Amino acid sequence: NYTHPNKGITGLVSPPFDINLVRQDFPILKEKVNGKPLIWLDNAATTQKPQSVIDRIAYFYQHENSNIHRAAHELAARATDAYEAARQKVQSFLNAFSPDEIIFVRGATEAINLVAKSWGEQNLNSGDEIIVSHLEHHANIVPWQQLAERKGLKLKVIPVDEDGQVILSEYAKLLGPKTKLVSFTQVSNALGTVTPAKQIVEMAHLAGAKVLVDGAQSVSHMKVDVQALNCDWFVFSGHKVYGPTGIGVVYGKQALLNDTQPWQGGGNMIMDVTFEHTTYHNAPARFEAGTGNIADAVGLGAAIDYVNRIGMDLIYQYEHHLLVYATRLLKEIPGLRLIGTAQDKASVLSFVLEGYRTEEVGKALNQEGIAVRSGHHCAQPILRRFGVEATVRPSLAFYNTCGEIDILVATLHKLRSAKP
Ligand code: PLP
Repeated sequence: NYTHPNKGITGLVSPPFDINLVRQDFPILKEKVNGKPLIWLDNAATTQKPQSVIDRIAYFYQHENSNIHRAAHELAARATDAYEAARQKVQSFLNAFSPDEIIFVRGATEAINLVAKSWGEQNLNSGDEIIVSHLEHHANIVPWQQLAERKGLKLKVIPVDEDGQVILSEYAKLLGPKTKLVSFTQVSNALGTVTPAKQIVEMAHLAGAKVLVDGAQSVSHMKVDVQALNCDWFVFSGHKVYGPTGIGVVYGKQALLNDTQPWQGGGNMIMDVTFEHTTYHNAPARFEAGTGNIADAVGLGAAIDYVNRIGMDLIYQYEHHLLVYATRLLKEIPGLRLIGTAQDKASVLSFVLEGYRTEEVGKALNQEGIAVRSGHHCAQPILRRFGVEATVRPSLAFYNTCGEIDILVATLHKLRSAKP
């Protein structure tokens, strides 16, 4: 059973589930790097996959592989059933009203581009304003900037305080009759800040704006309920929630999706085509032109089954303890500056270490088998807000342990003491 090496000394965090069994579900966690057991603390970049997800994808190709929705044969029916079952799993995972509100795309980046290139192109006009927060990943900045340049829109930014939390009173001042869209992240990938999403959505709606929530970093760490959030769109990537790469989701309110013209044309999304005119299906098909990533959608369904078996509440609870534990120990390292100290945080620890470039820290940790991200994390504006170009970013998942954090902290102490 799980025993913590520092039990009673630095404070044991007991996982509310059997961590040894959970870790056995992830074959890659048995890998060695530089002769040391792999310590995967790059979960904000991507998460590792349980055997059940790997098996589910293999099973699809062994027993179900076909294109979907098109043929009367048995395998087409199996593939279609598996794909649509995955859509229903996403629906209940997000608590969407209907599976028709779930569109499969490649990932959060494509999801945001879909909304910008369809709804944005069709509904925004010169002088209209879009609000994003200072915390955004480039994926939630660049598509809006491109749209703003094409259409003469204004992009406004909600500032953050010294802890890295959005300042709601400043946000209130940005909202006005010209605000047509507010697009913001529920959890910052660079700092881990959990934003007050429900309030941000409510305030946007009172101003008459639509709201997109970027859930790329939230769905793996907390329960998400899109109906309670009442956002107009919610996007995420499968690979950040223990599913495969190349699959992601746009949730959109049904009426809004059906009022929006598709951004890509082709097979699957049409009801009827003549050389004169095409009529489109309703959502989701109207936004799924061509052959999608069927096997990986099915794999995402298996990943959702997996996290549901553990329980999002328990995952949140355990990861929160890990975060508190790691924060406390990192703060004790001389010369280490933690960036992002909001009260409400998830998974991410971002820091710089005096005397070292972030790549040097990353390489030194890699020597010990520890994988972290060093760099700008595709979120340059928020790092520059704190006067840095890059940070070291360990990010946690429910398969991490206090023992792993101890090894991270000990390695950093050693590094630090090598430089007076
Ligand atoms: N939004 C946030 C907050 C992210 O962290 C990421 C990825 O790191 C993305 C969007 C883009 O996700 P993807 O690269 O999977 O499309």
